[in-house]
Amino acid sequence: MAELALDVPDFPQQGILFKDLTPLFASGPDFAATIDAIVAHHGPDSFDVVAGIEARGFMIASAIAYATGVGVVPVRKVGKLPRQTLRATYGLEYGQATLELHTDAFHPGQRVLVVDDVLATGGTAEATLNLIEEAGGVVAGFTVILELAFLEGRKRLKPRSVHALLTV
Ligand code: AMP
Repeated sequence: MAELALDVPDFPQQGILFKDLTPLFASGPDFAATIDAIVAHHGPDSFDVVAGIEARGFMIASAIAYATGVGVVPVRKVGKLPRQTLRATYGLEYGQATLELHTDAFHPGQRVLVVDDVLATGGTAEATLNLIEEAGGVVAGFTVILELAFLEGRKRLKPRSVHALLTV
């Protein structure tokens, strides 16, 4: 597994050890096994739609959606979605960010599986889960491929549960 997640020191800024999962995404069998493991953990009938967080979350969400026959909803960086949005600004491990979601992204009560590549401080996930609920979705689960446990993002998301395929 080691070669599928590369450590990149000082990216995107000094002091950050960036976990680069592009080798995992680029490996067909490993990417398929990753998607299958996420679907198996939650159960294919436990969600109605998948939401992916820009940008690496889009790849994971799209594959899960295709594998399970549901649709995919993008949670995007500010200024990218063309219609009326809900917006959340939050602090990151490096800097600040704003995410947006179309106001009408979900039918009321729609069960949403939320996915991203890495859980760090949990700010991105917290903002995303709040936006989804504000838009009328019900969070059916939140999964990342890799959790950086020392940043304690999981704590920040309590009482919501977090599923991580790998934890370092
Ligand atoms: P956070 O909000 O701190 O949990 O950051 C999570 C988001 O930022 C995810 O979308 C990750 O892709 C990205 N991210 C934050 N820290 C890292 C890291 N050390 N390595 C790779 N991605 C990261």
